[in-house]
Amino acid sequence: MTKKISIKHMIYQRSSALFAAAQKVIPGGVNSPVRAFKAVGGDPIFVKEARGAYLYDEDENRLIDYINSWGPMILGHAHPAVVNAVVEKAKKGTSFGMPTEIETQIAALAVSMVPNIDKIRFVNSGTEACMSAVRLARGYTGKDKIIKFAGCYHGHSDSFLIQAGSGAVTFGSPNSPGVTKGTAQDTLLARYNDLAHVEDIMTSNKDEIACVIIEPVAGNMGCIPPEKGFLEGLRSLCDAHNILLVFDEVMTGFRLSKGGVQELLDVNADMITFGKVIGGGLPVGAFAAREEIMNHLAPLGPVYQAGTLSGNPLAMAAGLAMLTELNDNPEIFNSLADKTEYLHKGITKALHNHNVIHTINRLGSMISVHFAEDKVVDFDTAAKGNNDTFKKFFHGMLDHGIYIAPSAFESWFITDALTYEDLDETIAAVENVARRL
Ligand SMILES: *Cc1c(COP(=O)(O)O)cnc(C)c1O
Repeated sequence: MTKKISIKHMIYQRSSALFAAAQKVIPGGVNSPVRAFKAVGGDPIFVKEARGAYLYDEDENRLIDYINSWGPMILGHAHPAVVNAVVEKAKKGTSFGMPTEIETQIAALAVSMVPNIDKIRFVNSGTEACMSAVRLARGYTGKDKIIKFAGCYHGHSDSFLIQAGSGAVTFGSPNSPGVTKGTAQDTLLARYNDLAHVEDIMTSNKDEIACVIIEPVAGNMGCIPPEKGFLEGLRSLCDAHNILLVFDEVMTGFRLSKGGVQELLDVNADMITFGKVIGGGLPVGAFAAREEIMNHLAPLGPVYQAGTLSGNPLAMAAGLAMLTELNDNPEIFNSLADKTEYLHKGITKALHNHNVIHTINRLGSMISVHFAEDKVVDFDTAAKGNNDTFKKFFHGMLDHGIYIAPSAFESWFITDALTYEDLDETIAAVENVARRL
């Protein structure tokens, strides 16, 4: 059932003024490029506060949020358990640069939730997690090269900026200046969902590849699930060639299931990276593996990795509160998937009603709408989407107070705080917007 709503025209005046001021002292006015709305045009929204499923901006608009800080706020904004944990911790000091008990508590909980890992090291971002995991893979195997997939994003460290997804692609500069040729040479690019391509690369770089790093469910070229047999095939190829398989679960970890994609799709990786949800909205990343691999890390082993603020008490308190909620209430993962399916059906119907060509990809609580005719299975098919239609769609939704990612190369993130009324309002907005696409 689609309820009728009138077109809203939200005003975003103060946000524009704040953006103008920001641009004078911050490059592009933002601290992470995708926030600047370059791919869709217009000025970004400045947030004042957020609660549950809603953002409240500087113009006093209420927006339904489908980004949720790019994933971390899986329980909704300002969740009481997380906020209380941080506030109470802050009263006792915010950083020591010395060990604290809470680091062991969150490590033990993460290790108990995720299959196939014995030890976990905490860092400050997903970028750091992936960068460190690759260094450890190289140190452990004694090999230099890595395979990554076109369209997968593993943060902005040099080895990964070879043809990254989201940010870099959005700006049409897949190879960032500043990355040396030497670094680029050690990163081999494969096509997502194309096992034969991976096998070719492995064969022609025999005994040189340390690891394959992959988003086991891709989220940085929209949502692209692995085709049946793809991850299993990667696992066998890695075993056959003595290569470590690294699942970058910065986006999928603690989102698609308690144990992430390893558990959901029943494929084991050798190393896992985390970020986003594991920090409960504070800057946290982590990487984990079986003991024999993790023991190669300093101070136990020779592979160096460190961080002044790593394991920061506020960050650990937020992360521990978040993981505890998810561990104690695993039905959340099903209710998230149900809500996402409901949204999928509603959006499909609304777009069909107005003959808008589209493809929707979904797995669990990740979903993306592509204005493309063909199935979207890799970076090339994702790039075929009509960006002009996406821009109109984005701004139309914003006019209705619905905030989706300001780039066609992003997944939407569903939060448990969304009600079915919110979803109906969103579907009704799609119906209105689709009329004008
Ligand atoms: C967000 C993301 C990263 C980078 O994490 P940051 O915290 O932004 O550095 C790495 N990998 C994946 C899959 C991501 O989605």
